[in-house]
Amino acid sequence: MKNLILFGPPGSGKGTQSEKLVSQLGLKHISTGDLFRYHMKNDTDPGKLAKSFIEKGELVPDKVTVDMLKEEINKNNSSAGFIFDGFPRTIAQAEILDTILNEKGWEITKVISLEVPDDELRKRLKKRAEISGRPDDAKPEVIENRIRVYKQETEPVKAYYKKSGKLTEIDGVGEIDEIFHRILQAIGQ
Ligand code: AMP
Repeated sequence: MKNLILFGPPGSGKGTQSEKLVSQLGLKHISTGDLFRYHMKNDTDPGKLAKSFIEKGELVPDKVTVDMLKEEINKNNSSAGFIFDGFPRTIAQAEILDTILNEKGWEITKVISLEVPDDELRKRLKKRAEISGRPDDAKPEVIENRIRVYKQETEPVKAYYKKSGKLTEIDGVGEIDEIFHRILQAIGQ
């Protein structure tokens, strides 16, 4: 059982690198952002709850996010492991994730934090807006808010994993394959 967290600010490449890891390692990819977009598209209750937060670049409340994540983990109990992408984003979420996994006799194996400077993030998100169709990529003020929320609420989660010796910081600037190899090295593959 290998449970990885891909950590980093919006636009740091978590989604891109997760996909590459999934095809190499055969793990189940869980992106809470993707799950929310699916729920919003299908106008479900969690989708309706999440919409106004996502449009402003705010975090969706922990309860809604954690319930959705739990459901996805439970649907994939026989998986060889998970890649968590965009979760946890608060210390409370990190603690709950440990509890959920521990109850199943599992744990987080490693946390990879993709380090990318703010100006590079702005550049990438602006470019992504042209193809993603994501409303939260299209507005500069929403992009700024997501970067601010990352620093305020999500970056402190790094210290949580540093304490347990699970955190590895990776330079997230460069060619996609180059960054992928840095990640593989960090997880001993
Ligand atoms: P992402 O695709 O990971 O950039 O997520 C898009 C948006 O979904 C974020 O800006 C948040 O509004 C929401 N979201 C995704 N994951 C979480 C999470 N773990 N906690 C709270 N909100 C989240």
